[in-house]
Amino acid sequence: MAAPKVAVVGAGVIGLSTALCIVETCPSCSVTVLSEQFSPNTTSDVAAGMLIPHTYPGTPIHVQKQWFKETFTYLFAISNSAEASEAGIHLVSGWQIFKNTPKEELPFWSDVVLGFRPMSEAELQKFPQHQFGQAFTTLKCDCPPYLLWLEKRLKATGVQMYTRKVADLWELHSEYNIVVNCTGIGAHQLVGDKKLFPVRGQVLKVHAPWVKNFIRDGDGITYIYPGIHRITIGGTREKENWNLSPDPGTTKDIFDRCCSLEPSLQGAQDIKVKVGLRPSRQCVRLQREVLSQGGVKLLVVHNYGHGAGGFSVHRGTAKEAARLVRECIAALQGASSRAKL
Ligand code: FAD
Repeated sequence: MAAPKVAVVGAGVIGLSTALCIVETCPSCSVTVLSEQFSPNTTSDVAAGMLIPHTYPGTPIHVQKQWFKETFTYLFAISNSAEASEAGIHLVSGWQIFKNTPKEELPFWSDVVLGFRPMSEAELQKFPQHQFGQAFTTLKCDCPPYLLWLEKRLKATGVQMYTRKVADLWELHSEYNIVVNCTGIGAHQLVGDKKLFPVRGQVLKVHAPWVKNFIRDGDGITYIYPGIHRITIGGTREKENWNLSPDPGTTKDIFDRCCSLEPSLQGAQDIKVKVGLRPSRQCVRLQREVLSQGGVKLLVVHNYGHGAGGFSVHRGTAKEAARLVRECIAALQGASSRAKL
């Protein structure tokens, strides 16, 4: 059979990393990325890009840990290479702090990040309203540079990228053998997934180069994540809120909350407000599906619904999606050789 034609729909961190894993593991495929928006206009561009996993209640912990570990290992190697600054990947140390000691003092990812340990009494003095904390070093992706780096790598391998809104996956059946759905919150409309819902996040991107350590309140709402050039301070988690317009009251609230943790942010400059919709679900939808109309079949692989943790697990889920694409290719090759007999 001729080289299988694969369309990846979506150009956020999930679509681009999935396309790259497909190219790396199925070099005989012809891969095309189709997307309504590219960087800097995706949810992935709004994210802070910190590698601190979010827990998916519907996915076994050992699977989530595997996805996180694969992502951490992949980005750690980039952070330790000459590509690090162009790819926007760097190590960052800091603290996760709690007003009350959490039930789970050792999160499942504690042995994947570097140097995880309880904070000392002396360190906790920086946060007089908190009584427990964890210190560790993790990785951060500066999101727009990382997305551009992924795009550059894809183009270098001959992947074509087109701006196109797909109204129905079936519209691609005459051009492609396999379609990979990485449309994030767009899957709510595209495939009518009612289990997928937005969790609105508003953040500020500020200039405050003297802040070097990350600070995350254990409730996950208030955080300060220093990047190479700018700091992301946040945030909000508003379930089922589709509004993409920044709210000025929320901006002030975020700024005040972050200054109470890091008073020097009062001097932050060049404040830009961003809003994104986390594509949330009980579990990531990572599975094969066969669409069929009038005896004609289209093989689909879904990879969406990464919620608040897409950057933390993107490489792990992209590898799994690429494995599912290889299964689809094997099925196509089986069907083609049976047809010749
Ligand atoms: P997207 O980035 O939304 O990409 C979807 C793509 O599909 C887009 O290119 C879109 O144009 C395209 N598309 C959609 N519908 C169609 C269609 N019908 N036809 C064609 N194209 C279509 N995660 C972390 O791990 N760490 C963090 O620190 C972190 N911080 C965050 C902070 C905020 C404020 C927010 C909002 C999110 C944060 N996240 C974080 C979560 C992370 O951003 C998401 O999990 C991740 O970006 C999801 O990526 P995606 O590629 O699935 O979606």
